[in-house]
Amino acid sequence: MTDTTFETDRTPTRFGPAQAAVLVAGARGTYARGVTKPLAWRERQLRALRRMLVDNGDLLCEALAVDLGKSATESMITEIGFTVNEIDHTLRHLRSWLRPERVPVPVTLPFAKARVIREPLGVVLVIAPWNYPVQLALTPLAGALAGGNAVVVKPSEVSRASAHALSQLLPAYLDQDAVHVVEGGVPETTALLAQRFDHIFYTGNGAVGRVVLEAAAKHLTPVTLELGGKSPTYVDDTADLEAAARRIVWGKFTNAGQTCVAPDYVLATREVIDGLLPLLTQAIGDFFGDDPASSPDYGRIINDRHFDRLSNLIDPARVASGGGCDARNRYIEPTVLDGITGDDLVMQDEIFGPVLPLVEVAGIDAAIDFINERDQPLALYLFTDDAATRRRFERETSSGGLGVNIPLAHLSVPDLPFGGVGPSGMGAYHGRASIETFTHAKGVLRQPTRPDSTALVYPPFAGVKQRLVQLLLSPRRRR
Ligand code: NAD
Repeated sequence: MTDTTFETDRTPTRFGPAQAAVLVAGARGTYARGVTKPLAWRERQLRALRRMLVDNGDLLCEALAVDLGKSATESMITEIGFTVNEIDHTLRHLRSWLRPERVPVPVTLPFAKARVIREPLGVVLVIAPWNYPVQLALTPLAGALAGGNAVVVKPSEVSRASAHALSQLLPAYLDQDAVHVVEGGVPETTALLAQRFDHIFYTGNGAVGRVVLEAAAKHLTPVTLELGGKSPTYVDDTADLEAAARRIVWGKFTNAGQTCVAPDYVLATREVIDGLLPLLTQAIGDFFGDDPASSPDYGRIINDRHFDRLSNLIDPARVASGGGCDARNRYIEPTVLDGITGDDLVMQDEIFGPVLPLVEVAGIDAAIDFINERDQPLALYLFTDDAATRRRFERETSSGGLGVNIPLAHLSVPDLPFGGVGPSGMGAYHGRASIETFTHAKGVLRQPTRPDSTALVYPPFAGVKQRLVQLLLSPRRRR
């Protein structure tokens, strides 16, 4: 069957439970026939996915501009180029990642051979969010294909133009019996979640993450949750403040702050804040000019709901830089707030927009306490020149990832697993971590029948056998 025949939210008949059941049964049938398992099929799909991105870069950039006002260059770097790099890295290493891994056997199993085999999971559901609609749908898709699975992709209805582009393009390049795209929102996702999948990979907010986990529990389906939260940034007095300011501004205002790993807020002493603040303002001006509204490199807020939420977080009395809002264009100026404490409204939830609060702390101990008193973040950033401070952050804080003197960029290192911890998520992907997520590590033990070394553990246990068992297995011997 092909995915071009079922309903999208642009067609009169909606995609409901019956269509979801047919779709998943079709994908399961394809998987059961073994179509997706050969390395050659996986490589073919990955190359086709890469070709789709290269052939249709302009079209995808247009869709991203409609959804998020992203510049073509930003889309090329953070969406299309990012995904192509991930595919290239996977194609380079897939064969070796899939090679069975020999592991040692205990003395009680002489002549035996033990190996770990990576087997595909079956049918995978990928549920993507709106903020990087191409990258966050296609990078998990690439991982699931590399793992040898059939895949159903559900892009976000919030980034409608990108979702529609993906639903048109993917079937034209990929194996239509194994890869399906479902456009739609809550009803369509709910219909899909009622089906049994072999893995669900969800990216988005934690409230829906709980809905996904609950639905998965009914089928005992394993789940990866790529969630968000407030990612703190600590700047100490040894940091190069000019570099810190430019990098924080880049990390915060890329995609108009709608990045799951954007620096959410800055922690620093009053002296550091006073030094940093003019440099932040200067970096904003350098990057986006005097009027960021007219900069082709500055994005827009995804919809009116998020615009209203964000403009409500800007307390005019605390604005140190920016603060301008234009509801008609869903434009929010790059904004820095000073004099913010942990009790302020802007510090209650993930900001997910171009508003950067500066929070004064007494020093490193207070900064670490501030971080540890709150949810474990998806990312934590530290600007310092001091190795002891870096080591303290590595040991004394917990976060999905840690960036020292650079935000966001840890995502672009394909060998670093990317994922959250605690409320910021469970599981990880990118590079080899995607293979670990999208395959099952099957332990295989092979024992020759002759000589029968297993006879050692057969009763009756007496005489030489008893002494041998004591010699080989006694807890005292193991010490
Ligand atoms: P969203 O609104 O697009 O929702 C994500 C997906 O969930 C969509 O496909 C949507 O259709 C589906 N969905 C929404 N409500 C649902 C429901 N009730 N039942 C079933 N499915 C439902 O995106 P969002 O949640 O606003 O995304 C922003 C959040 O995602 C932020 O918290 C951000 O930090 C996080 N995020 C995390 C990562 C990461 O890699 N860890 C990346 C991007 C975004």
